[in-house]
Amino acid sequence: MADQRPGAPGGTVRTDHPDEHRVEVEERGSFSFARCSCGWFAPGRRSRDKSRRDAAGHLLETGAEVA
Ligand SMILES: [Zn+2]
Repeated sequence: MADQRPGAPGGTVRTDHPDEHRVEVEERGSFSFARCSCGWFAPGRRSRDKSRRDAAGHLLETGAEVA
């Protein structure tokens, strides 16, 4: 597949196969939710542990290694 774009800015992110998923858990008031650098995010949870499970599940789905 030839997908060359002349003049593309450096550091272009390939969204079809991201090299890594950086998941972090954020807290908003009494809720927490996990979100990833790829744009994925989980619904708000009442427990941070559930958010971590959401994050782990996302990494499994994407085939990424859990750090
Ligand atoms: Zn991701």
